[in-house]
Amino acid sequence: MIAENFRQVLEKIEAAKQRRLKVPKDAPVTLVAVTKNHDIAAMREAIDAGAEHIGENRVQEAKEKFSELERDVTWHLIGHLQTNKAKQAVKMFKLIHSVDSLHLADAINGAAAVLGKTQEVLAQVNLYGEETKFGCDKEELMPLLKGIDALENLKLRGLMLIAPNFEDKEAARPLFKEMYDIFTNIKKMPWERADITELSMGMTGDYEIAVEEGATIVRVGTGIFGARKY
Ligand SMILES: *Cc1c(COP(=O)(O)O)cnc(C)c1O
Repeated sequence: MIAENFRQVLEKIEAAKQRRLKVPKDAPVTLVAVTKNHDIAAMREAIDAGAEHIGENRVQEAKEKFSELERDVTWHLIGHLQTNKAKQAVKMFKLIHSVDSLHLADAINGAAAVLGKTQEVLAQVNLYGEETKFGCDKEELMPLLKGIDALENLKLRGLMLIAPNFEDKEAARPLFKEMYDIFTNIKKMPWERADITELSMGMTGDYEIAVEEGATIVRVGTGIFGARKY
């Protein structure tokens, strides 16, 4: 089931790329399989079906799986990160999607310096006010991006959005469009270290719309693994 779901999600992504209007149809999309609350067996099934990118939202859960998995995959931290877990996060994750304050960026930079790593990060944007708890407000975005760019052991790769869980999935489309505009603008700006190529948006309910509007990374859990049991 998981393997079949995974292939279907890939097919839907390809179909959504063909429906793009403003965004180049051939611009690639990375599918991150979100494995939070799913066990190692499920993860291996997805990986054996071709999943190369794994997304976890908690450092502790990722750590427990990290040593047990025995598969060569790329790890993404998609959930909120507490500064006291920065070091563990830097050890495991290729890309941290959830940097929403300079305070957190500083902590990750410090941990990366100690470990001799350049940590790739995305800035998480909150376009919607209080609906979502995390993410940096639009007004604070430019200072955050510039602050991240100034840190020696960080490489800013782009932006991340968690859209509100709208009843009508089309309601997310204007947010995805707005994110794509911001992404296109910051791509053109001169940066010290940043290499801005990634726009992480779209989950099970709305990833096809996100791809149509220019997502370069989608994060899909339920659509691959089924409903999470808590
Ligand atoms: C859980 C989670 C996802 C995946 O959600 P689904 O609706 O199960 O696809 C994506 N992004 C983030 C940040 C998440 O926490």
